[in-house]
Amino acid sequence: MKIIGSFIGNVECKRFYMPGIKVFSVCPKCNEERELDFNNQYLSYPVVNRFQPFYFYCKPCEENWEEEAMLEIKISGRQP
Ligand SMILES: [Zn+2]
Repeated sequence: MKIIGSFIGNVECKRFYMPGIKVFSVCPKCNEERELDFNNQYLSYPVVNRFQPFYFYCKPCEENWEEEAMLEIKISGRQP
């Protein structure tokens, strides 16, 4: 099997859930760790293999902030 190239562009998916993945970031106001749980939150038409903003929200502070992260999608062949 031969695999060539890498995914460029966006995933054509309005609600791209990723069950099993959680991303954590510290609220700049209260310094408490907040999470993005992709079991029940999603990226909308996410860009692939490039850094993009991930948006966080702290409910008690009503604070929004963003961090840059990358959604990587690739195909790997099973090694014999
Ligand atoms: Zn906070």
